[in-house]
Amino acid sequence: MRYRASALGSDGVRVTMESALTARDRVGVQDFVLLENFTSEAAFIENLRRRFRENLIYTYIGPVLVSVNPYRDLQIYSRQHMERYRGVSFYEVPPHLFAVADTVYRALRTERRDQAVMISGESGAGKTEATKRLLQFYAETCPAPERGGAVRDRLLQSNPVLEAFGNARTLRNDNSSRFGKYMDVQFDFKGAPVGGHILSYLLEKSRVVHQNHGERNFHVFYQLLEGGEEETLRRLGLERNPQSYLYLVKGQCAKVSSINDKNDWKVVRKALTVIDFTEDEVEDLLSIVASVLHLGNLHFAANEESNAQVTTENQLKYLTRLLGVEGSTLREALTHRKIIAKGEELLSPLNLEQAAYARDALAKAVYSRTFTWLVAKINRSLASKDAESPSWRSTTVLGLLDIYGFEVFQHNSFEQFCINYCNEKLQQLFIELTLKSEQEEYEAEGIAWEPVQYFNNKIICDLVEEKFKGIISILDEECLRPGEATDLTFLEKLEDTVKHHPHFLTHKLADQRTRKSLGRGEFRLLHYAGEVTYSVTGFLDKNNDLLFRNLKETMCSSENPIMSQCFDRSELSDKKRPETVATQFKMSLLQLVEILKSKEPAYVRCIKPNDAKQPGRFDEVLIRHQVKYLGLMENLRVRRAGFAYRRKYEAFLQRYKSLCPETWPTWAGRPQDGVAVLIRHLGYKPEEYKMGRTKIFIRFPKTLFATEDALEV
Ligand code: ATP
Ligand code: MG
Repeated sequence: MRYRASALGSDGVRVTMESALTARDRVGVQDFVLLENFTSEAAFIENLRRRFRENLIYTYIGPVLVSVNPYRDLQIYSRQHMERYRGVSFYEVPPHLFAVADTVYRALRTERRDQAVMISGESGAGKTEATKRLLQFYAETCPAPERGGAVRDRLLQSNPVLEAFGNARTLRNDNSSRFGKYMDVQFDFKGAPVGGHILSYLLEKSRVVHQNHGERNFHVFYQLLEGGEEETLRRLGLERNPQSYLYLVKGQCAKVSSINDKNDWKVVRKALTVIDFTEDEVEDLLSIVASVLHLGNLHFAANEESNAQVTTENQLKYLTRLLGVEGSTLREALTHRKIIAKGEELLSPLNLEQAAYARDALAKAVYSRTFTWLVAKINRSLASKDAESPSWRSTTVLGLLDIYGFEVFQHNSFEQFCINYCNEKLQQLFIELTLKSEQEEYEAEGIAWEPVQYFNNKIICDLVEEKFKGIISILDEECLRPGEATDLTFLEKLEDTVKHHPHFLTHKLADQRTRKSLGRGEFRLLHYAGEVTYSVTGFLDKNNDLLFRNLKETMCSSENPIMSQCFDRSELSDKKRPETVATQFKMSLLQLVEILKSKEPAYVRCIKPNDAKQPGRFDEVLIRHQVKYLGLMENLRVRRAGFAYRRKYEAFLQRYKSLCPETWPTWAGRPQDGVAVLIRHLGYKPEEYKMGRTKIFIRFPKTLFATEDALEV
């Protein structure tokens, strides 16, 4: 008997699902849980490869979306695509970012629970693109708020501004985000976006003064030089040519074919207006950008006593004007260090090296504090204007997290240490929440929970963050001993304190065999995603992040309104040491984890297919690494530990009712009873499935495939 044709109906959507499932030899499975051999990494990668070849860049692991960067415009983000994914069930349409977007939005609306989409992956994997597509989806498909409709534009326009100041060309990505970003979008009770808020994490400020070969400084510098009006540049004392600026020539890479700085500048300039910048504020901001370039060109020469003297008077003149500070004060601050000894202030002259260090420290501080100010300014513009109205109280929040993935380079330093620690925390949260939601679903459905064995990476998080004994604590302790402590004494202290930790190793602690692969100034952490060896060189300096006191004082006196907000006098009188970089980062991460914990999570895991930034290339070695770093096999294992597949009774019956004469063409009773009749007819064995309150749970993919194949007959 054949019931199949009408079972599919005329609904194209379901046809798509069928073709994706049944043509699995060619295009693979659209959900990894349906892989027969789910513990095999090779099978996992083969499935990715098949789909990638067919331009199917999205695949699920249950509710988690895995995305492979196609490096080409696939025309899959149009308004039509948005419409196609609105209001339909997650599994009825091919996997897509918009399916996640819509599911999350509907949960927010119907359950009124805050949501968070966590997007992870290594540099160039497509996190920022995904974040932008999600924002676009909401901006275009959500209803407009009754008041303050401009918030949608502001949400979208905050992006080009943040990218101009926070993104740069690196070897891995022409538009690499050099900061982590968490953005909340607030929705009113009607589901309209009414406000937003951004948190930023650890801007890579070293880039302001140094770039590796083939990399660039932050986009904004090139944009301003290329796109700024003649008159603006004249006021700022700038030349068009980026080659004139030492801070821009280090990477020897001013021009990038994929980037049009001139056009981008136009976009940024417009966006600044949308996010409420006045003309004065734009001027003040540009003055700061220009001052950083002038700082880079500031030269020193040594006098007879080997003390540094400023030799580039012109630069100093512009700096004085642009930063709104006294020329003589700035000159003195750049070439001297103020020391307070026994209540007395002493000025000690700097040598050439120290002066260059002080200058670079100032440039980094000016730029990174301006970035922080910018985020705060954007937040004021995104703040819901309805904060006082009753509807405010009923807002729900949708968070988007676009944060750096696990990093392993040839040479790993303090930055990689922080980034990888961040990934440990997020992995821990992920495992916790995934297990929790699995467990909750089983409970809700009245099915017995079957415990899952998994690796709990809490032990590594503790190793890094524990009070007194953790790596950050020990680092901070060493930072409190200026003059005595060095990067190497830090390493020794680490060795003493955490010597028996199974996830920690140094040259001294290693056995004969491993010792060869570890340098004397290095320590190795066994992260959940694999081993990383860190060089301690620069740890103390980067963690301390010192700016000489007199430079701070000078900046506190600045008449540039932005600078005077960035450098506050209270900093000078504060007796307490400012928190170190690692501790600040740790605290902001703990806060982030709390924010994320309070929300319903959704995950997008991004994969970069090749290092050449090219379409169509699937580099297996590179991809295997990422599958590991993203913890995807572990994710799949947890998801498959119980049941491979689960579906609402209605949906299951609708799809397969044609396979049984009793349920075809309609089943008049409860869907659950219909499913029971149907699967009895199909001969499901008791160990193959469980019946929950609203869903059927199927243990093995082969059961589902057999049923699916029956439709084909
Ligand atoms: P980073 O950590 O360096 O910021 P990222 O994960 O944010 O990296 P993106 O900037 O989002 O990476 O992506 C890098 C580039 O890859 C984009 O500029 C774009 O050219 C391309 N790309 C990413 N995702 C897609 C996509 N879905 N479709 C087409 N091209 C994409
Ligand atoms: Mg990015």
